[in-house]
Amino acid sequence: MKKHNFSAGPCILPQEVFQKASQAVLNLDDSGLSILEISHRSKAFVEIMEKAQDLALEHLKLPKEEYQILFLQGGASMQFIMSAFNLMQTKAAYLDTGSWSAKAIKEAKLLGEVNVLASSKDKNYNYIPKNFQVPTDVDYFHCTSNNTIFGTQIKDFPKANVPVVCDMSSDIFSREIDFSYFDVIYAGAQKNMGPAGATLVAVKKSCLGKVDRKIPSMLDYQVHCGKDSMFNTPPVFPVYVSMLTLEWLKEQGGVKAIEAKNKMKADAMYLEIDRNPLFTGFAEKEDRSDMNATFNLKDEALKSKFESLLVEAGVNGLNGHRSVGGYRASMYNALPFESVQVVIEAMQELEKNA
Ligand SMILES: *Cc1c(COP(=O)(O)O)cnc(C)c1O
Repeated sequence: MKKHNFSAGPCILPQEVFQKASQAVLNLDDSGLSILEISHRSKAFVEIMEKAQDLALEHLKLPKEEYQILFLQGGASMQFIMSAFNLMQTKAAYLDTGSWSAKAIKEAKLLGEVNVLASSKDKNYNYIPKNFQVPTDVDYFHCTSNNTIFGTQIKDFPKANVPVVCDMSSDIFSREIDFSYFDVIYAGAQKNMGPAGATLVAVKKSCLGKVDRKIPSMLDYQVHCGKDSMFNTPPVFPVYVSMLTLEWLKEQGGVKAIEAKNKMKADAMYLEIDRNPLFTGFAEKEDRSDMNATFNLKDEALKSKFESLLVEAGVNGLNGHRSVGGYRASMYNALPFESVQVVIEAMQELEKNA
């Protein structure tokens, strides 16, 4: 039986994508070749790469003349240092909203001065700081749009007169925002776009080439842009599966349509968390993530009872991250509404029998 998969990442992808991807492993578009054995320079793969890049730009509503899409390796974690390598001359401003932000800050400090504008670490990152201003004397401002571990999400991005870099790993393509506000967007594929192994970077070409430092080729956005993401062998299969997911998203009506579905899932989940007397939400209400809902049992004694209800219902991956504990419902684009209903029913079942 197919499980209801709430895994935080790698995570659920559309069932149709799994089907198409498995077919392509055996025989890509009736070519007599597997997607796993073709050259990245082949016409078939060059077309796949171009299609993935075009679909990404289309979904983000970014103009092709200004932005370039790269599919790189090394995960979002590589982007912590790579973005700094390309944009940090002397000083950058960071917003600290969780473990991933903190890791980005640690890496950036290797290359220059880091001004941490605000942090929510004082409350185990259960909110998004708001009383801060982005200074004008920094090379860029870095933020994390969705805090996968703590379940908070930036709803309003601050005014910034400097380039903005955003780690959008866990909510890219999930909601409509003005993506042209950002100069560099990066996202590990494995949360909302594809399998692990590819990292999407959307980069505004005009913000590059402004630092004096020598940049290693593999960390240089301009090198990858110049070779159209083919400087070295790209992650062929993850790019292919990402392309399939972006196609699926288009068939669903695009980001706007998926946002409405995501909103319905998140609203239903939070409604139950707030209504059910056995549970309590972790994040501040106004900062709650539509992707990852974090919550706890008020009485730990009910833990094993609740978890056996989840197992019975075929729910996978609802356990929270070790730094928060409790539960985390990751409701990425491909998660159907009925999976959320299944968890809500388990919560209600627990209430009835408690
Ligand atoms: C998962 C995640 C990362 C780490 O991604 P890797 O691809 O494992 O390096 C970074 N930032 C955020 C917001 C994430 O959710």
